[in-house]
Amino acid sequence: MDKERKLIIAGNWKCNKTVAEALVLVGDLKRELAPVKEVDIVCCPPFTALDAVSKAILDSNIRLGAQNMGENGLGAFTGEVAAGMLKEFSVGYVILGHSERRQFQKESDALIAKKAAAAHAANIIPIVCVGETLAEREAGITNAVVETQLKGSLTGLTSEQVERTVVAYEPVWAIGTGKTATTAQAQEVHAFLRKVIGTLHGDTVARRVRIQYGGSVKPNNARELMSQPDVDGALVGGASLEVRSFADIIKNSI
Ligand code: PEP
Repeated sequence: MDKERKLIIAGNWKCNKTVAEALVLVGDLKRELAPVKEVDIVCCPPFTALDAVSKAILDSNIRLGAQNMGENGLGAFTGEVAAGMLKEFSVGYVILGHSERRQFQKESDALIAKKAAAAHAANIIPIVCVGETLAEREAGITNAVVETQLKGSLTGLTSEQVERTVVAYEPVWAIGTGKTATTAQAQEVHAFLRKVIGTLHGDTVARRVRIQYGGSVKPNNARELMSQPDVDGALVGGASLEVRSFADIIKNSI
């Protein structure tokens, strides 16, 4: 598939996998995906498996991501993990503002923006998630919702930082439900998000920023989604937990 932007496909393991299970999965993925050069491949295990996975993928084309981080540096922030700590394990990406964190931890756009700035300061690429609920889509306010989330979550970043940020469009109604946005629905929102970035940071940044789709991506729908002009990869939840489905999503996307 011929795109100006390199595809980036990330697996969000959420709160799954012991260290032993994580090692089996990345071991299998390494073997399956060794020949793949066309896609940036990222695995995002839970914090507890970062150390082991980091060592296991040293000699591979798989990069490491975290699923969250604290917005502050070191200090009296009980329970938090700072960007600098993630760097110890060669974490290159961090998922920020996932809808589950927006819902269960009540994360706001302003907080996500602080985390995104802290990630960039540590040379970690944030994967910033936005997406509407089913009620919002049915009310016809999808664009307004994702525009507010995107602008709020990128506040304070420089244009260079925005260009390196990965945006993930994840309609909440499609996450873990088996319902996927149609390719037309995904493309429409991706093109809109790119336009919003263009308005804020200019055409070059908009052309270069990568926008992933997330929400029940599976081997059988990956190719069609990735073929959309403004879809630059996928953030994969459930299907990233098994070697066969994650590897096939990546292979079918090329
Ligand atoms: C996600 O949680 O980011 C996600 C897209 O999940 P799933 O692929 O399971 O819908």
